[in-house]
Amino acid sequence: MMMDQDYMVPDYLRLEQGLDSAIDMPVRVNYILMPDDTVVASADEFFRIHHYLSFEADTMNEVRIDPEMVDGMREYNRVKEMIQTALDDHRVEVFYQPFYEVAQERFTSAEALVRIRDLDGELVPPGVFIPIAEENGLIVPLGIEIFRQVCAMMATGEPQALGLKCAEVNLSVAQFDKENPADFVQKIMDEYQIDPKWINLEITETASSSAKQILLKNMYKLILNGVHFSLDDFGTGRSNLDYFVDMPVDVIKFDYSFTHGYFKSVKAKYVMESMIELMHRMGLAIVTEGVETKEQFDAMCGLGVEFIQGYYFSKPLPREEFLEFLREKNGGA
Ligand code: C2E
Ligand code: MG
Ligand code: MG
Repeated sequence: MMMDQDYMVPDYLRLEQGLDSAIDMPVRVNYILMPDDTVVASADEFFRIHHYLSFEADTMNEVRIDPEMVDGMREYNRVKEMIQTALDDHRVEVFYQPFYEVAQERFTSAEALVRIRDLDGELVPPGVFIPIAEENGLIVPLGIEIFRQVCAMMATGEPQALGLKCAEVNLSVAQFDKENPADFVQKIMDEYQIDPKWINLEITETASSSAKQILLKNMYKLILNGVHFSLDDFGTGRSNLDYFVDMPVDVIKFDYSFTHGYFKSVKAKYVMESMIELMHRMGLAIVTEGVETKEQFDAMCGLGVEFIQGYYFSKPLPREEFLEFLREKNGGA
């Protein structure tokens, strides 16, 4: 397993042309060059690395592994295991961040944001595990668990009695594919007897057009059943102009970076003003994310956005604290 940079392919592994080809057997030889024999802890880990690199190994016949790659692999496996055990042990938690509806002067919507409580009781933010869950498919059971928790809360009717009109749930494109259509959304809503108008699903841009076709198919199915969609992360480069033009969404969410750009340059300010005017002409509502100060809040109100979300009002809160927040701020229905 230990092979240094001077490693030479041994003669017995060289495939020479012109051999008698009576047996038509495809052979592929890949070489994995390890920097030293202390890097890989076990044969099992070696094979996991080999499996992880199989894609690259398909296109190249030599793959070099450096210690950073092994660290990356270990971190990937650690997070993957953390997600799996959190699902098994019910340590997946959903927090809620309220949105302020400008016209109503109260909090009528909220975004559900997942957290995992690790074995030490610390909260792990989604930036750590969502990309890994998307990559290895764990996003499917994780997404079901999150959606179930949101529906369970909405089914009590308590948030609605406190003025909440709907809960927004983030969906990754990786949650739908040919084998896993978005049917789980409808199934769970039916199970908890959820009125679809209580749910808004947040989606983001997807780079591949085949994934977009699958996404659109699933979206239309749910829209026909009364579910509404928001386009998340607008302004990050992940959601651009041509994307929102043909996406069946009712709400556009301006990302933190876009909202903050408004205060940093006159050009960004003009872009944001024009965008808002354009989106309003298209009948879309706007949420601005990342509003942290009174100055930002006043500016966003002045721009005519419908909803404001950010630390200025509240960080994402655990369910009970969130209901307490609504009780205090909205003061009943
Ligand atoms: P997002 O959907 O754009 O969520 C908004 C993020 O901005 C949240 O981070 C929220 O806590 C943060 N935020 C809100 N207001 C402010 C503010 O005023 N200032 C600053 N600095 N940040 C603010 P969070 O909870 O860490 O989530 C990060 C991302 O993880 C989300 O971005 C979303 O893409 C993903 N995510 C979170 N929950 C879920 C989920 O249930 N399912 C899926 N598929 N993705 C999720
Ligand atoms: Mg979101
Ligand atoms: Mg966002």
